[in-house]
Amino acid sequence: MFSGWFTGLKRGLAAPTGRVVRLIRPSLSRGLLLSAPRRVPELSSFVARTNTCGELRSLHLGQEVTLCGWIQYRRQNIFLVLRDFQGLVQVLIPQDESAASVKKILCEAPVESVVQVSGTVVSRPPGQENPKMPTGEIEVKVKTAELLNPCKKLPFEVKDFMKKTEALRLQYRYLDLRSSQMQYNLRLRSQMVMKMREYLCNLHGFVDVETPTLFKRTPGGAKEFVVPSREPGKFYSLPQSPQQFKQLLMVGGLDRYFQVARCYRDEGSKPDRQPEFTQIDIEMSFVDQTGIRSLIEGLLQYSWPRDKAPVGVPFPSMTFAEALATYGTDKPDTRFGMKIVDISDVFRNTEVGFLQDALSKPQGTVKAICIPEGAEVLPVFLKANRNWNSPVAKLVMEEQGPGLLRRMENQEEDMVLLTAGEHKRACTLLGKLRLECADLLEARGVLLRDPALFSFLWVVDFPLFLPKEENPGELESAHHPFTAPHPGDIHLLHTEPEKVRSQHYDLVLNGSEIGGGSVRIHDAQLQRYILETLLKEDVKLLSHLLQALDHGAPPHGGIALGLDRLICLVTGAPSIRDVIAFPKSFRGQDLMSNAPDFIPPEDLKPYHIQVSWPTDKETEKNPLNPPRQAES
Ligand code: ASP
Repeated sequence: MFSGWFTGLKRGLAAPTGRVVRLIRPSLSRGLLLSAPRRVPELSSFVARTNTCGELRSLHLGQEVTLCGWIQYRRQNIFLVLRDFQGLVQVLIPQDESAASVKKILCEAPVESVVQVSGTVVSRPPGQENPKMPTGEIEVKVKTAELLNPCKKLPFEVKDFMKKTEALRLQYRYLDLRSSQMQYNLRLRSQMVMKMREYLCNLHGFVDVETPTLFKRTPGGAKEFVVPSREPGKFYSLPQSPQQFKQLLMVGGLDRYFQVARCYRDEGSKPDRQPEFTQIDIEMSFVDQTGIRSLIEGLLQYSWPRDKAPVGVPFPSMTFAEALATYGTDKPDTRFGMKIVDISDVFRNTEVGFLQDALSKPQGTVKAICIPEGAEVLPVFLKANRNWNSPVAKLVMEEQGPGLLRRMENQEEDMVLLTAGEHKRACTLLGKLRLECADLLEARGVLLRDPALFSFLWVVDFPLFLPKEENPGELESAHHPFTAPHPGDIHLLHTEPEKVRSQHYDLVLNGSEIGGGSVRIHDAQLQRYILETLLKEDVKLLSHLLQALDHGAPPHGGIALGLDRLICLVTGAPSIRDVIAFPKSFRGQDLMSNAPDFIPPEDLKPYHIQVSWPTDKETEKNPLNPPRQAES
């Protein structure tokens, strides 16, 4: 019953993580710092317990202790297992007449009630030790007990092995947080952030500055949440990131800024996104790409949990063009091969119509990936053993078979996936198939991606602009409009802006983008040209920033790490919701409190706004539009 409980937590968090200096008792020496550093934080200072449940060991034998915790389990009215954040401990319920009231409390309190017990740490009788339980050599012989608060009927059992739906977990998040997994995730997150602060502020002189969350709408980037104000027609916006503020801090001479920053993006439902999320936001003056990259490599290495595979630095890097051509994405998962191969030359003289056609177009290519053991495990399209199952495949094999097999170096049981078309589209398609196939192969037991491995990668030399999705004739920033062009491409800004590379870099971990940043434009004239002429933005909205750049803005650059995603990858959690204490559901709702919620019309009056209720048809189309009834 105890196996697995808190062992993960202990493994990850018990290792000494830093030097904590403790004040010694005022009676001994008022306010004096102990010179001997303490490695383990004091967990029972200021509170009603003497020890935590999970910390008791043989070395505590004979000690009188007071514990506070939740009732995890009771057996035969003799044993009670008490739990706190540190673990479980077995408590002996007194059986003698004189302790009848203590027995009554401990036997009648429902599971998950909070109790305080006092007693002596004793060793378990020989043969009754539980080696799977960190406190398994001892038990606490209780003398007194107090029921601090009883627990009503539970919507689900807190014990990890009781499976529950995510909606139920989110609705009763305060109970879900009691699980050892959530405890581990949030505590590991706290420790990593602590180490990051230490690295940035104490070792490298960064200044932690808070920036506003009530801001105004700014051009470009993601959709923003708006907040009504009491001035008619005027709204604040919640910032997508502190981007402008951190640049203004550089102009203000803050020099090295960082913040654990809350960011808001109204982007709708995406599996690994949240409408509010946290970034480790960084900006430095007088820095180039190399400086930022080294800083981040050092930061991650310093804050990395000791029980995880170590982070090797420097991280490899790859250009955006190479990432697209080889992996079909700007965030390649480099833990496994199956790279995209350009086989256009093999098909130069093909007779197959659609291949001829594709190759005759501008940027026309034929590309392929080889899935090792794919023919064994996956549904077969093209097999290396000539057992073709489509007429096109047969024709291809007869014509280009030997050249193709030579180029792909595939074995008998491998599978080759082939596509023809415009370079970017063909690569993107194969990139997606590569990941799908990896999932399928792994579901069938082929190990491709070592779950213990952390594969970091810098992706660099992004284009400065991309064609707008909804209107490819216009340009939008690939990162954001404050990103500086690559010095070697500045001359192209006026002639072929779509060819300009940028000083934007992304950090990728195991195929997820966990950070991105850039060297910024610090020249007001260049910034104005990019905003006004190339991006067709209203520069009036950014006049404060343009003005600031004209007042002695230092050269500067920065980056932001997506903390939720990073912690999710480090802990191996299935979703970023599992590393956030109170996340929103997939649809952006807080299932516990029911936010967002209705506001009575009279409360909207001071803001001069009125709800225009969707029609039934609109509600049908978008179920997130609430029906009218809630006005009451
Ligand atoms: N503000 C940017 C973002 O949120 C990061 C950066 O450029 O520093 O993606």
